[in-house]
Amino acid sequence: MFKTIFSKLMVTNLLITTSVVIAISLMFSLIYSLKVFDEKQKTLLSAAFKTNQLAVRYENGSIAKDELSDGLDNLGFVTDSKIYLVKLNKGDLGSMGGLALDSELKDGYILDDLAVILDGGTVLRKWQYSINLDSQVVFAGVPWKNGESVQGAILLFSPVNNIVTSIVRIIMTVLLTGLFFIILSAFYIYYNSKKISNPIKKMEQAAVLLAAGVNIEDMAVDSSDEVGKLAEAFNYMKRQLADTEKMRREFIANVSHDLRTPLTSINGLVEGMLEGIAKPEDYNKYLMIIYDETNRLNRLTDDILQMAKLQSGGLILKTGQLNVAEVLESVRESTSSLAGEKDISLDMKCDVSLQLVADKDRLIQVLVNLIGNSVKYGVQGGRILVSAEGMPSMVRFTVADNGIGIPEYELRFIFEKFYMVDKTRNTSQGSTGLGLNIAKIIVELHKGRIWAESEQGKGTKIIFEIPNVYNQFTN
Ligand code: ADP
Repeated sequence: MFKTIFSKLMVTNLLITTSVVIAISLMFSLIYSLKVFDEKQKTLLSAAFKTNQLAVRYENGSIAKDELSDGLDNLGFVTDSKIYLVKLNKGDLGSMGGLALDSELKDGYILDDLAVILDGGTVLRKWQYSINLDSQVVFAGVPWKNGESVQGAILLFSPVNNIVTSIVRIIMTVLLTGLFFIILSAFYIYYNSKKISNPIKKMEQAAVLLAAGVNIEDMAVDSSDEVGKLAEAFNYMKRQLADTEKMRREFIANVSHDLRTPLTSINGLVEGMLEGIAKPEDYNKYLMIIYDETNRLNRLTDDILQMAKLQSGGLILKTGQLNVAEVLESVRESTSSLAGEKDISLDMKCDVSLQLVADKDRLIQVLVNLIGNSVKYGVQGGRILVSAEGMPSMVRFTVADNGIGIPEYELRFIFEKFYMVDKTRNTSQGSTGLGLNIAKIIVELHKGRIWAESEQGKGTKIIFEIPNVYNQFTN
């Protein structure tokens, strides 16, 4: 029924406000009415007391009959009531049938009330129909006393019409005030509902545009509440999407470039040989270049495939408990001949009992990759030290070399895809700019972290830590 947030907020809030206002008005009216009736009864009781005083003075002969009736008229006028002085004694009630009570006092309830009053009691009625006054009345009856002896009864009847009129007037005022308040709240609720629903609606439209690839402005963040946070999250998502798109374009550009360069070089060399431009004695040299370039293409496609697999979550770690020293030994076996090409010494340092839970093949891949870099960017006759150190909750690996180093301001970029410190020096060395990025993804898959420390001209340290689940089991 209510399809928009705006209509839901509007209707719900209005319903709540209206119910609350009506409930408060009714409660106020009820309390006010009861109070008015109580006040009326008090007024009648006080008039009854004064009537009693006048009656006693009349009986004592202090005032004449005219003065008594003037006094009663005055009291009746002031209190808007009819006052009766009924001279009776208890015995009279038994033979009431023959008693000539004023016709105005023949209402059924009066006889019962008289019995109570002549016994010294007070009777109060808030809402009683009087046949003679032909209206609802507030009634008060008290004994007419002279000293301690009960002479009769003082009865006061006040029609409720005037009271009801004043109560209705008050209720109307309260209801009108309530209505005014509801209208005022409706404006406020409208404004507030729009304030909540408008940004959501805008975000919905923006999301549709974003999905269609349209460039859109940032959402305005006007508040720090959930709606504001949603707008912030939306803007963040937009930036992330833009970054991903940028990375995707860069990635395609890089890959195309990196694929085209060796292909162009192979193509040129083969063409030269086919067309006889290249001298046959240079064929061997050209074939070696072609061989290197195809190797580079192979590495590049391998790296790209591997990275795509890692990023798409397609790689599931096959973790197991490893002896780290044995892992380093395997790494030495597969990299020593590479290091030997540059006459670089390769040393491993590790406690023989150090254990770690990790994916062995991936761990070896990371270390081989880092050592490969240390050789690539190492100096002839240099040194590489690979160490693994057991910490309370992790194992820290360090691959340190004394190679050409990396400028400090480049350190934070080297783990990004296709980042190469110096393209010219790298392409000749079979670089793809993907090795450290792959290492980073693998380390992060192990819930670890990787970073680099380096000094240009002095050497580089690539350090990574892998949380040691093994220790958590054994401690
Ligand atoms: P590449 O295939 O180019 O080696 P990497 O992602 O492995 O790609 O490395 C990124 C860049 O970081 C490299 O191009 C290189 O300039 C720099 N680099 C990495 N390791 C070292 C190192 N041990 N010594 C000096 N420079 C390094």
